[in-house]
Amino acid sequence: MHCPFCGANDTKVIDSRLVAEGDQVRRRRECLASGCGERFTTFETAELVLPRLIKSDGSRQPFDEEKLRAGMQRALEKRPVSVERLEAALVHIKHKLRATGEREVKSLVVGELVMGELQKLDEVAYIRFASVYRRFQDLNEFREEIDRLAREPAKQ
Ligand SMILES: [Zn+2]
Repeated sequence: MHCPFCGANDTKVIDSRLVAEGDQVRRRRECLASGCGERFTTFETAELVLPRLIKSDGSRQPFDEEKLRAGMQRALEKRPVSVERLEAALVHIKHKLRATGEREVKSLVVGELVMGELQKLDEVAYIRFASVYRRFQDLNEFREEIDRLAREPAKQ
């Protein structure tokens, strides 16, 4: 693994632990180049095939984890949710997609999974995501969603 600071080839793993319920390995590495010695973190996940997504117009797209992460990060902006918890949520979503055993799933399925995870992480983020994702028809519908959340007992 090259050092991202100086580009040296020699980096040493100084710590390694399982995260995201054991589906990811977090490694602390240290650059061995003299004069650098920077430390950085890498995350390692097994690459498994995920189903392709069927969009509402019938077109197919490969599953894009980066896009999913970016969408969730946008919803979680300035919210008190750690990167670890977001990564764990992404792992859950991918688990559930693989568990379908399908080669293709409707993109709606992913949207619903994301909303399920965001609801557990942070209700403000959930509302932000849902308001964009579901494209609430009018303010009443948005209001109903907020009322529904207010009625539900807080999780955690
Ligand atoms: Zn370096």
